[in-house]
Amino acid sequence: MSDKKMVTDLDVAGKKVLVRVDFNVPIKEGKIKDDTRITSALPTINYLLDHGAAVILMSHLGRPKGQPNPEFSLKPVADHLATLISAPVKFAEDCRGEIAKAAAEALKPGEVLVLENTRFYAEEEKNDPQMAADLASLADLYVNDAFGSAHRAHASTYGVAELLPSAAGFLMEKEIKYLGDAIANPQRPFVAILGGAKISDKIGVINNLLKKADKILIGGGMANTFLKALGYEMADSLVENEVLDTAKELLEKSEGKLLLPVDMVIGDAFDAEAKMETLPVGDVPAGWRILDIGPKTVETFGKEIANAGTIVWNGPMGVFEFPRFAAGTFAIAHKVAESKAVSIIGGGDSVSAINQSGLSDKITHISTGGGASLEMLEGIELPGLAILSNK
Ligand code: AMP
Repeated sequence: MSDKKMVTDLDVAGKKVLVRVDFNVPIKEGKIKDDTRITSALPTINYLLDHGAAVILMSHLGRPKGQPNPEFSLKPVADHLATLISAPVKFAEDCRGEIAKAAAEALKPGEVLVLENTRFYAEEEKNDPQMAADLASLADLYVNDAFGSAHRAHASTYGVAELLPSAAGFLMEKEIKYLGDAIANPQRPFVAILGGAKISDKIGVINNLLKKADKILIGGGMANTFLKALGYEMADSLVENEVLDTAKELLEKSEGKLLLPVDMVIGDAFDAEAKMETLPVGDVPAGWRILDIGPKTVETFGKEIANAGTIVWNGPMGVFEFPRFAAGTFAIAHKVAESKAVSIIGGGDSVSAINQSGLSDKITHISTGGGASLEMLEGIELPGLAILSNK
């Protein structure tokens, strides 16, 4: 990060600054359900306004599949932003073409313009050079503050940075600092907690963490494949048979760093009302499936968490959407919140578990980027960061 230009390295007074933000917020019936991603971008937006820039914001929202679709309009986001800052907030119903150009030209220092969803064009995700050129033509400078999209080389995150002098925003800086330091320079013991549905998404992460972390605690559906690799019958549990060999290899080379559940909460259906039972880890009875970690596992994992210097957590410990099978995830959330370690949580579900528990202020850093934070844990360079101007 230290080699990349920061927004504070740019001379922005009187300039038009195009900022890629991550305004991909959950919206239901026109109402924003969680504005964390909007408030997280305010330091960069306010800095630019205070330093005399005209600020043009662009983002994607949802998956409109390259077509304009009112369901995925950024208009409600622009309206919400107007309630959070004192500057006037304008909205352009297109992110390129005449509408965008006219709105950008008319924009004055101290004003904000929100462009419509970049993914209303299929060219966005293809990093199309013409789309990048159209976006770049709106401004003098480019700032990327969209950490949540930095693992994608799209027109608005990559192509445009090839065409304008560029820098990273404050959110990007903060995310890279916490996640980067955790990997490169952790306080030890460094304990990673991984959960969620599948191993296959996280093989690269486990491989990298085996080199960097002192302990990796595995819960959620991904533990099932490891347990099957150890020879247990998993009955109706979610298991990825195609990566069983990989799971065996990871266990063999883990030198005891990988900790698996010692007990399991099983259900007789994948259902919120399923009958439940708690058993030591072993063969799962026919017709049943593992849906959460048990209390003994919480205790074992809890000891590692209490002793940790750095904790990174990604992915729930069970099907926490069903209250009956949420105890493991919420107990781990409490253990992480109670620990004195530097704690970093990434990934929508684990972030949502910590927010639902009301414990978010006890966490050192809650990442706004699920995929991007995983790629950092995997040790992959983020293209949206790599392309920014060097100091
Ligand atoms: P991911 O997107 O990979 O982080 O996975 C999150 C999902 O994993 C959540 O929707 C959980 O319900 C699901 N999950 C966690 N544990 C299990 C389990 N034991 N069996 C099936 N799904 C699970």
